Amino acid sequence: MSPLSAVAQQRAPLVQIRPVVVTPEEFRVAYPKVQAWIQKTLAAYEKDAQPIASMHFARLPLYFDYDLLETAKFIPIDQVPMPPLSAMGLARFAIFEQGDFHGVTYLDRYFIKQTVVTEEAVHFHELIHVIQWRLLGPEGFLRAYANGLDEFGYENSPLEKMAYDAEASFKRSSAIFDAEKFVAERLSSR
Ligand SMILES: [Zn+2]
Repeated sequence: MSPLSAVAQQRAPLVQIRPVVVTPEEFRVAYPKVQAWIQKTLAAYEKDAQPIASMHFARLPLYFDYDLLETAKFIPIDQVPMPPLSAMGLARFAIFEQGDFHGVTYLDRYFIKQTVVTEEAVHFHELIHVIQWRLLGPEGFLRAYANGLDEFGYENSPLEKMAYDAEASFKRSSAIFDAEKFVAERLSSR
């Protein structure tokens, strides 16, 4: 074995630990598992899903379509459920998987921590994700989310940044904007 190939062999595992994006093969293997986990989790909690109208928030209806607020529901919970990504072959998301989040959105359902359930801005943030899921489709959302996490980390991943930016505008001022249009424009400028 030449010294050069010894070095190459030592380096190879490092490259596999942290590639720039989720490889198509990794995604192909993990996607059905994540999808099945989401279906199972949502089915288990559907009995706890509550209509957003039940919170009587004054501002949400100014930003989101009536239909969206009627079909999306939230599930109050002590700790939001995260998919076991390491067990699904995506070990480098272990830190994300163990994160303590205020909310997490799967399709048109979002889990929200009991401690922040009365905070309108948290609902606003998760509703931005509901629109992202809807516009990108489940496969498109998960691919974009995983790649964004990998490349930029949680807060700067494009789908999170979009939700945080919209949430900041919502908190900062009373200027009304169409949330769905905001998401559609940001997605098309990617
Ligand atoms: Zn978010």
